[in-house]
Amino acid sequence: TAERPVNFIRNIINDDLATQKHQQVKTRFPPEPNGYLHIGHAKSICLNFGLAEDYQGGCNLRFDDTNPAKEDMEYVESIKRDVEWLGFQWDGEIKYSSNYFETFYDCAVELINKGLAYVCFLNAEETREYRGSLKEPGKESPFRNTAPQENLALFEKMRAGGFKEGECVLRAKIDMASSFMCMRDPTLYRVRFEHHHQTGDKWCIYPMYDFAHCISDAIEGVTHSLCTLEFQDNRRIYDWLLEHLDAFNRPDRPHQYEFSRLNLEYTVMSKRMLHQLVGDKLVEGWDDPRMPTISGMRRRGYTPASLRDFAERIGISKVDSMTEMGILEAAIRDDLNVVAPRTMAVMDPIKLVIENYPEGELESIQAPVHPQNEEMGKREIFFGRELYIDRADFMETAPNGKYMRLAINKEVRLRNAYIIKGERFEEDADGNVTTVYCSYDPETLGKNPADGRKVKGVIHFVEASKALPAEFRVYDRLFTVANPAKEDDFEAVLNSESLLLKQGFVEPSMANAPVEQAYQCEREGYFCRDNKITDRLVFNRTVGLRDVWAQ
Ligand code: ATP
Ligand code: MG
Ligand code: MG
Repeated sequence: TAERPVNFIRNIINDDLATQKHQQVKTRFPPEPNGYLHIGHAKSICLNFGLAEDYQGGCNLRFDDTNPAKEDMEYVESIKRDVEWLGFQWDGEIKYSSNYFETFYDCAVELINKGLAYVCFLNAEETREYRGSLKEPGKESPFRNTAPQENLALFEKMRAGGFKEGECVLRAKIDMASSFMCMRDPTLYRVRFEHHHQTGDKWCIYPMYDFAHCISDAIEGVTHSLCTLEFQDNRRIYDWLLEHLDAFNRPDRPHQYEFSRLNLEYTVMSKRMLHQLVGDKLVEGWDDPRMPTISGMRRRGYTPASLRDFAERIGISKVDSMTEMGILEAAIRDDLNVVAPRTMAVMDPIKLVIENYPEGELESIQAPVHPQNEEMGKREIFFGRELYIDRADFMETAPNGKYMRLAINKEVRLRNAYIIKGERFEEDADGNVTTVYCSYDPETLGKNPADGRKVKGVIHFVEASKALPAEFRVYDRLFTVANPAKEDDFEAVLNSESLLLKQGFVEPSMANAPVEQAYQCEREGYFCRDNKITDRLVFNRTVGLRDVWAQ
């Protein structure tokens, strides 16, 4: 396998293999099915599945479905789709934490029998009060020393539906004076009368993340359990639980390692905020091309290769930081520059009439699909008396010597075709140019003028009779500030111009563009055929040709 840059996690794995603590690497990606995956999840997916690939181990896809109130099968389906689209295959069957509900229950009973867990009837506020603060130790719950037999009966009653939501919880008996607040008798189980998408109404007690996660890892034989830095303290619970459960307290039991989460400029990544954007209809949905979701980025034209490359570029560390949008865009540009067919599209069309071109004649020209890659072949474009060019490519008089576009009495080359010269133009009552009249030099198809005159500018065009009407959706950053999550009201800093619709024309080679097919529309940017609206030609701008973020 190709050597990837070392990082601290690879160093740990290399050591664990060298000392034979583990024979094989087993990782997992454990999404909660309570929303769509975003680019931050992609970082975690690339890390976990990437390690499994490189070390010829396996990576489980496990739905961490212990909180049924917010979960839904729609999310389960979208997560599977996104992981596969990124090009990864999970090991064996898909796993659900809910598969292990019986085992979790048995583990809780084991802790109760060992005098390491108790049913606590303090309410939420009392629990907080008793927990104390970093400056002072907590107070022990009055229920902390209930006898195991009694706790067992109470816990069975919890399972049987004998207590109301919030009336009691099961807590681990760890250390009310710990300097890690999460070790001050954390909750293991709570009562929730919720229907679950996998287990139906079988359960009315649900395990907490800290309890379910380490046991799920251990059941699945996970060796390296990778999570983000905010779980650093929780590692103590992870270890404590596995050390106190007989079946799992083994030298090869899983260990948790933390890495920094991805934060990307000009977007938000918290599921709560993404839910809010969708719920308040501030975007079209989870797969709106402006969303940082994998499905949104896919619809926008990001490729799996580009997201995997992005994950490589940002690397893995333990330092929280904000990643620049430019890094993500460089990854997609570098991919599309190589793979995207070239085309010409006019997004703000004005008519161009070549007066010395014979009326009714249509010329077929073979243009390269990719100027740097002959193997990609040729495409047919057309040339005739009437064409479309972009409004931005014409001015009555060139403002200076550096102006490379069309003007009256100025020559430019039409890309893949002839040199033309502006002769005169017409405008409407508002002073908008409607038609530019030109002459062309018939001796300049694919060659320079014989008299040696230099024509520097090149503009793109589409022949009018063969042009296909198309809609272009030009996206900009979703927020006007680099860190919208920091704002009191992040919706107030939405960019009102994050979507610009343009009606124009594409060349006929794009008539049957498959959905998600990427193109470089020369001089305009990278676009892809929308994967949702398919009854007409709609193209999403993936990214411009140059980095505009660096300024
Ligand atoms: P949120 O806190 O917004 O609800 P989450 O972290 O709870 O997100 P999960 O579905 O639990 O979302 O995440 C699944 C996995 O993806 C976890 O292991 C988590 O650490 C990882 N992950 C989530 N967000 C990021 C991120 N921004 N960068 C890197 N990894 C992430
Ligand atoms: Mg969450
Ligand atoms: Mg989570």
